[in-house]
Amino acid sequence: MELELQSLEKEARQQLEALSDSAGLEEFRIRYLGRKGQFSTILRQLGTVTTDDRPRLGQLANTVKEQIEALFAERQAAINSSDDQSEDFSKFPDLTLPGRIPVTGKLHPVTQVMQEVCAIFENLGFSVAEGPDVEQDYYNFEALNIPAHHPARDMHDTFYVSDQLLLRTHTSPMQARIMETRQPPLRIIAPGKVYRCDSDITHTPMFHQVEGFLVDRHVSFADLKGILTVFTQKMFERDLPLRFRPSFFPFTEPSAEVDIACVICGGSGCRVCKRSGWLEILGSGMIDPEVFKMVGYDPEIYSGFAFGLGIERIAMLKYGIDDIRLYYENDQRFLSQF
Ligand SMILES: [Zn+2]
Repeated sequence: MELELQSLEKEARQQLEALSDSAGLEEFRIRYLGRKGQFSTILRQLGTVTTDDRPRLGQLANTVKEQIEALFAERQAAINSSDDQSEDFSKFPDLTLPGRIPVTGKLHPVTQVMQEVCAIFENLGFSVAEGPDVEQDYYNFEALNIPAHHPARDMHDTFYVSDQLLLRTHTSPMQARIMETRQPPLRIIAPGKVYRCDSDITHTPMFHQVEGFLVDRHVSFADLKGILTVFTQKMFERDLPLRFRPSFFPFTEPSAEVDIACVICGGSGCRVCKRSGWLEILGSGMIDPEVFKMVGYDPEIYSGFAFGLGIERIAMLKYGIDDIRLYYENDQRFLSQF
């Protein structure tokens, strides 16, 4: 029996060395260590040996079995850890998969429309000029024929920084700033942010305007109408009738609000155009001689026109947006449509 134990131990050690996977481990466990395994069979034979030999042989059989069990556990741990490594390997990225497309940003619809407006006027020979958002009272009001006590100042609920500094209420200050430093002929557009204390479904405290003006000899209202007609055709990509309504601005004379035939209903009347068939898109007029005098131009020689349009308004009409606040809520579902 002692010999039998020794040969079984040797055989089990060899088998263990050869094991390479968990299926082999399980087979080994059943064959040697299980309830019906070879060591159990030997231990059961202890009953057949003499009582003198029994304690020694019993102890020997247990020692051998324990050693094999310890070796088995060691082997099991080694195989399992190498299994883990092969699992890790399977978690490596699959380099044959198509790549993930990175999320790229895009221009805000207001920026897009602003660039489009500038591009249209640049093609008509205008150049772009930008001015400060924090403006002097002089350029925002005085130089545009809006003196301190002029009732037109009531039209603007202005953010004042100090007595003489404010957030510009329109892009028109660029008229005076450019004319002060340059001589006609001038064809300028001035895009930018403007600020007014105002907030509802069609007004936000900050919005975007493009100011445009042209100064030269013999400039007439017909030139203004021609330029604006081309602009609306390009902007809305179709022939839209234009309508000039007499209006008042302190820095233009005569002044006119410009309407286009409703882009939604084509002029037959709908909710957007309040059944009128017309939509107001900008304010315009011939530059007031008083403005020319303030910058030192001779109004007997030069004439010019100016217009100002709201970018948000144009974008709302172009894309059929009914609430101006949507532009500034940063909702990707809205912004990604443009
Ligand atoms: Zn309409």
